[in-house]
Amino acid sequence: MRGNDFATVLGDQLNARHSWWCEQRDDVLYLMMEIRSETDYAHHHAQKVLAPFACMRGFGAALGAAGHQLRYFRIDDSDNGQTFAANLRSVAQAVGTTALERMEADEWRVEQALDAAAVECGLEQTVVTSEHFLVERGELKAAFESSVPRMEFFYRDLRKRFDILLMAEGEPEGGHWNYDVENRAKWPGTPQAPVWRWQAHDLSELWREIQAAGVKTMGEPNASQLKWPLTRREAREGLALFVREALPHFGTYQDALSSRSLTLFHSLLSFSLNVKMLHPLEVIKAALGAYKRGEAELASVEGFIRQILGWREFVRGVYWARMPAYARQNALEARRPLPEWYWSGKTKMACLAHTIGQSLEHAYAHHIQQLTITGNFALLADCDPDEVDAWYLGIYVDAFEWVEMPNTRGMSQHADGGVMGSKPYCGAAAYINRQSDYCKGCEYDAKLRHGERACPFNSLYWHFHERHREMFGDNPRLKMPYRLWAKMDESGKKATLHQAELYLSDLNAL
Ligand SMILES: Cc1cc2nc3c(=O)[nH]c(=O)nc-3n(C[C@H](O)[C@H](O)[C@H](O)COP(=O)(O)OP(=O)(O)OC[C@H]3O[C@@H](n4cnc5c(N)ncnc54)[C@H](O)[C@@H]3O)c2cc1C
Ligand code: SF4
Repeated sequence: MRGNDFATVLGDQLNARHSWWCEQRDDVLYLMMEIRSETDYAHHHAQKVLAPFACMRGFGAALGAAGHQLRYFRIDDSDNGQTFAANLRSVAQAVGTTALERMEADEWRVEQALDAAAVECGLEQTVVTSEHFLVERGELKAAFESSVPRMEFFYRDLRKRFDILLMAEGEPEGGHWNYDVENRAKWPGTPQAPVWRWQAHDLSELWREIQAAGVKTMGEPNASQLKWPLTRREAREGLALFVREALPHFGTYQDALSSRSLTLFHSLLSFSLNVKMLHPLEVIKAALGAYKRGEAELASVEGFIRQILGWREFVRGVYWARMPAYARQNALEARRPLPEWYWSGKTKMACLAHTIGQSLEHAYAHHIQQLTITGNFALLADCDPDEVDAWYLGIYVDAFEWVEMPNTRGMSQHADGGVMGSKPYCGAAAYINRQSDYCKGCEYDAKLRHGERACPFNSLYWHFHERHREMFGDNPRLKMPYRLWAKMDESGKKATLHQAELYLSDLNAL
């Protein structure tokens, strides 16, 4: 950096191992800011404001303690301009510089806002990597621009590049690249799933400040005992606990759903990863260590690593290659508003009541809940992907647009027309019943397609296939449902479609 520079550190750039922190520079003022433009771009869960702000404050204090110069704007500071541009301008004037250094932002919206602010304030920017991801953005963009590679091959290439789970000859450990077929069991209640792994923090004072600043949130703040990791040390403790207690069963129960466990054997690491308190490679190495010590089977370790080395890097490739057009895609022309109970959890459908209730309470739901329950329903019910995106972006503590949007709009809503998946990810009650214990306590009957107590997933599933026959009728991966439908008797088909129409006419009543 040049003399008297200033540099921004955003709320999702808390990378303590970034090369910036290797030396102490007296000529650089670091700038961190809690601002309304970042709290208000979505209707956020309270914990999604509390946890990042608390992490930022801790990170800022650590920078100060290490001797770095820091200007930190708290949300209720009277001189906080509440936007990137306003604070950049005031700090640039105070420092007397026009030279801004910053790490690249992960979200399109933020990158645009910072570029615009730089122009507005007459700043000359130097943009550096956040040193977090395994594939740099330039390389990703080039690899994804003309056509999106298949995730499986992208993942295999990265396995080779980083020498992960490979035998000496370059073949995959165990002879297979992918152990998904072994990872589909329903969880019978044993082995015991770990309980929530993080220590509780009293953030009541921060919560008062957030409220006093007028930030509007949803969900349970749990401010006096917030259970998300707030420092790198805590994030690493959580990683160690996951590896010890949950990883050995991660693979087997990866696709399971249960009303008896919030997390099953999932890691809860996405928040720590996304704000960059943890580096993906250190998480992968921790899992590899368990495999080498014989503490976790290959299927579990490979399944877990695929999520981080494969999916997480892959969705970022899709995002940066396809934005901003991606955010407007609605290939299925879905137009219905999201039912009101997505914001309250008050629905008679047990699976949705459980998943949404848990999300409102903890700002967390694991992948299969997000995909098979809330995402699947919104897809079948023809809900507008803009509304679905806004919901996911707001409610989950780990939701940052670069990872949320390809998963929601792409993988779960098929609104990208098949970029993320060659077929829509949808299922009827039989699948949910097979993987979970939700249906037992439900007012609806998982076996019925029509009639008063018929599970809405069933008729909506068939209605979905019928209304999108033109798009999916010849899709080789959807041969099975269309064949089954063709075999159904005409009166059953009619009653099923009629039932779906009834449900669609008043989704709020379900
Ligand atoms: C509709 C929908 C929306 C989603 N939105 C987000 C989001 O906003 N932020 C987010 O981090 N993940 C998102 N995901 C992916 C995934 O659901 C979460 O990463 C996961 O639930 C986080 O919980 P965990 O840490 O316990 O994950 P685990 O199941 O333990 O997985 C380990 C890690 O792998 C990574 N990972 C797993 N699946 C994916 C995936 N599909 N894409 C990217 N990374 C993945 C995460 O970093 C996660 O921490 C979404 C998935 C769906 C279906
Ligand atoms: S019966 Fe249908 S609505 Fe009820 S829990 Fe099962 S899948 Fe969900």
